[in-house]
Amino acid sequence: MKRRTFLKNTSLSGLACTLPPFFVTNQEVDYSTGELMGKADIELFGEGINLRKEAYEAFVKMKKAAYSDGFDIKMISSYRDFYRQEGIWERKYLRFTEDSGIAPLEAIDKIIEYSTIPGTSRHHWGTDIDIIDGYPKVSGDVLVPEKFESGGPFESFKLWLDQHSEEYGFYLVYTDDPRRRGFKYEPWHYSYAPLSIPMLTAYRKLNVLKLMQKEEFLGSEHFTTGFIRTYIQDNILDINPALL
Ligand SMILES: [Zn+2]
Repeated sequence: MKRRTFLKNTSLSGLACTLPPFFVTNQEVDYSTGELMGKADIELFGEGINLRKEAYEAFVKMKKAAYSDGFDIKMISSYRDFYRQEGIWERKYLRFTEDSGIAPLEAIDKIIEYSTIPGTSRHHWGTDIDIIDGYPKVSGDVLVPEKFESGGPFESFKLWLDQHSEEYGFYLVYTDDPRRRGFKYEPWHYSYAPLSIPMLTAYRKLNVLKLMQKEEFLGSEHFTTGFIRTYIQDNILDINPALL
């Protein structure tokens, strides 16, 4: 079920008929805290695709276009709920703290090089995807930057994405801009901008610090106000500026 609510703004209602339709739409759509944090039961589309309707339709168009250019887009990850992210987080936390004996704060810093804190992942939104080309034979982990670079199995696929993904609304999130902080370069992670931009806008209105303090997953007891503030600035907001 979609838990989208529609805001009524009486002071604007008299103006609404004179405004272009896209403006009205953007102003009216709001997202619940639950769906922004991956805790709501949202409607997802496409077997093995699992995206919000509009993102799913755009993805299918992009997949078809890529296919006719010789690439077989394979979805590695799309929608992921809070509890899946919590599992990923806790597994990594235990591996670093118990198996490797790393101190909690250092372990957290290591986890957030690539993984998000549960409740803060863009994968909770049903708009973001991790993709590769299914054609080349690849050994080992597929989601490593080198595989998308010169000489790697996904080099030509990445060049195709650079050229075409934005035509379908999909933008790279964690770019290779050396001035960017937060998550490392992820050449496989794309976001469907027409939905994820308003969702990020809604997310920014949440009190993430307060929401995180209510959570009780492993390691969350070490989150300080300063840590969460920096995490929001660097990991949530220091992304491709086209998605802000
Ligand atoms: Zn991703």
